[in-house]
Amino acid sequence: MKKPRIIIIGGGLAGLTSAIHLSRENFKVVLFEKDGYPKHKVCGEYISAEIIPYMESLGVDLEDLKPKKIHQLLFSTQSGEKTTAKLPLGGLGISRFALDEFLVQKVIQNGVEVIQEQVSSAEFIDENFQVETQSGDKHEADVVLGAFGKRSVLDKELNRDFIQQKSSWLAVKAHYQHENFPKDLVALHNFKG
Ligand SMILES: Cc1cc2nc3c(=O)[nH]c(=O)nc-3n(C[C@H](O)[C@H](O)[C@H](O)COP(=O)(O)OP(=O)(O)OC[C@H]3O[C@@H](n4cnc5c(N)ncnc54)[C@H](O)[C@@H]3O)c2cc1C
Repeated sequence: MKKPRIIIIGGGLAGLTSAIHLSRENFKVVLFEKDGYPKHKVCGEYISAEIIPYMESLGVDLEDLKPKKIHQLLFSTQSGEKTTAKLPLGGLGISRFALDEFLVQKVIQNGVEVIQEQVSSAEFIDENFQVETQSGDKHEADVVLGAFGKRSVLDKELNRDFIQQKSSWLAVKAHYQHENFPKDLVALHNFKG
């Protein structure tokens, strides 16, 4: 039986790992990502060690990125009170700038076609998916995987309820160098507002 042709919309962690997984199973995969690589992403950049066996099963060795090994958590409240805890399983500190680029290179090595374009619609017509990009190009697939994160133009296109609501959350990311900050610590700080 002919293997289905798969289109993945979105090249974040879900899209990239799915592309590696499916290409290893010899599926024909095309991945669309609206932004170029490498790219920064608002993220705490803490990866739980529980995902390491899965990444190894995909032939991805995160040690190649020389991650920081994290074993401690610090949590602070708005008033500045702090508590710390050991993280028994622990995790890795890796920037998304490095991680997403590392994964997309694996995706390309595995023969996946990566197209830098924003997908504007995906419709199921006559037992087939028709995927259209912002530039008007049309692509067909047997299966479409929506890995476009949250609050994508596709959520608007699909009339999802949550997209009508305003979000009260704001995230800001910056990288700092701090000589005295322990290298094995992840810290969560809470601020008013
Ligand atoms: C502030 C913050 C901190 C976080 N910190 C951590 C952390 O420390 N550790 C952790 O494990 N998780 C963390 N997370 C969660 C983590 O970022 C998400 O779980 C993860 O990014 C989800 O991956 P994803 O691939 O589903 O979506 P995303 O990573 O959002 O990827 C979606 C991709 O789809 C692309 N896309 C969207 N629409 C289209 C379109 N129409 N056409 C083409 N491409 C499109 C986007 O450009 C994007 O690259 C954090 C999240 C936030 C908000």
